[in-house]
Amino acid sequence: MDPLKYVRPNILALSPYSTARDEFKGGDISVYIDANESPFHTGFNRYPDPHHQPLKERIGQLKGVSADTVFIGGAGSDEAIDLVYRIFCEPGIDNVVAMTPTYGVYAVAAAINNVEYREVDPADDLAFPVDNILAAVDAHTKVIWVCTPNNPTGIAVPICEIIRLAENFDGIVAVDEAYIDFSSGESALSLISTHPNIIVLQTFSKAWGLANLRVGMAFSDPRIAALFAKIKYPYNLNGPTQREIMRQLDRRDVSRQVGIIIAERERVARALSEYPCVERIIPSDANFLLVKVDDADRLYDRLVSEGVLVRNRTRIAHCADMLRITIGTPMENDRMLSAIAQYCRHDINIARPEHTDQATRTALIRRHTRETDIEISVDLDGDPAMSVIDTGLEFFNHMLSQLPHHGGFALDIICRGDLEVDEHHTMEDVAIALGDALRTALGDKRGIERYGFVLPMDESEAMVLIDLGGRIDFRWDVTLDREYVGDTPTEMYPHFFQSLASALRANLHISAKGDNCHHIIEGIFKATARALRAAVNRNPFTDALPSSKGIL
Ligand SMILES: *Cc1c(COP(=O)(O)O)cnc(C)c1O
Repeated sequence: MDPLKYVRPNILALSPYSTARDEFKGGDISVYIDANESPFHTGFNRYPDPHHQPLKERIGQLKGVSADTVFIGGAGSDEAIDLVYRIFCEPGIDNVVAMTPTYGVYAVAAAINNVEYREVDPADDLAFPVDNILAAVDAHTKVIWVCTPNNPTGIAVPICEIIRLAENFDGIVAVDEAYIDFSSGESALSLISTHPNIIVLQTFSKAWGLANLRVGMAFSDPRIAALFAKIKYPYNLNGPTQREIMRQLDRRDVSRQVGIIIAERERVARALSEYPCVERIIPSDANFLLVKVDDADRLYDRLVSEGVLVRNRTRIAHCADMLRITIGTPMENDRMLSAIAQYCRHDINIARPEHTDQATRTALIRRHTRETDIEISVDLDGDPAMSVIDTGLEFFNHMLSQLPHHGGFALDIICRGDLEVDEHHTMEDVAIALGDALRTALGDKRGIERYGFVLPMDESEAMVLIDLGGRIDFRWDVTLDREYVGDTPTEMYPHFFQSLASALRANLHISAKGDNCHHIIEGIFKATARALRAAVNRNPFTDALPSSKGIL
């Protein structure tokens, strides 16, 4: 079957825009004066690779498909949705069919492209109604939208139903799998080679946690993939985004995070099912729950007043009194659960998961004062390589980055401080927020240890002892005989560690000596990181509290 028979004739006929770099192949070029770029280096002065072939190959590898089936959108999968209309649907003539309720972008993109959008009611249990969908098709239906797992219901469409659609519909079946990573169901990706009228959309916005980068994907028969490439905006994926996606693909594995979200989804669903104000929870294969409550508007307002924002879907067809609740961190979920419990006067009995490997040890601390704006996130089981440290002080960044690197955890620190005054507020407030974040992420401290570390650093040596037992004590036996190292005053370092010890509620004893202040300070940060690593490391053989008193 040739899927090109569904394509608009003007799309087949057009010749695409040809970029400057497209028109020249090969040769040994060192002077690039072909694209009207600025010759001055800004980090961004050159146009990006318009075809991003290496990224297509890397994504193909990850998904087990060949690169010539891949389209990458630089405005998320929303870009792919729009291109599906442009490739197949003649404005004012053709139509598409979808179930309601589903993702709102299909209808908006239809309206923008002047394509009729036919809505079909779901089955009684909100499932995808294959036969009614097929019944709504006519000679001008070019596309059937299948969102699986569906947004906002969370319900997945079984793969056999997708095959049945594709085999009984003379047109394109567009399968949007934005949430497939959270589903126990099978992806339709393997079908694109056997059913050339199937297009599968996926995204980096959900399981990969990269919504801000705006990268979506479409997988299809190579003949269709070539059309996506032909009509996309020439430089639709900017260079920093291409590099970042490549970096993420090389370094990250999202399965642990996906596992945590799924475990939390099940825990939240169990907890909510006990609440008197909750009438129905739609079984979800996604990272959210659609929940029917007694009065969605009232509960929504109540949650907002508690600082918790969910999506009120009550005004959408078939979703009366339903709220869509995204699964957050265990702490965020607990805040939502206790706010709903208060609303329906339900005894709060939040069964936090046991401190197993599934539970997260994460914290997000936001601290805003007149002097500094700080956001710190810690994942004690996260990937240190993904850490981002940015305080505006280069030497301080360099020191702080020792903590995740040698501590073996993920740490992001973003601080915008009043450096025009001096370094004091930035360094002090980062210490306080960091201590808060580490203490929060450690939770009940089950399975952790008390530790210390001694570390040589060239001619210097540093010893750091840490006890996270909850009592604060700070000792500093260090001589720093320079006033400044890099862009930081050395007198701020004892102050930094003292503030950290207070916020972390720890005993922190630091002694160090040497000839070079840079080495001494770096040695202290490294030894602190190493001591923290040992202290926060879960002893795999015990889940007990590391205290004979049974409490820390
Ligand atoms: C979130 C979502 C997307 C992803 O959109 P992006 O533009 O890639 O961020 C696609 N489809 C559905 C159904 C979604 O819910």
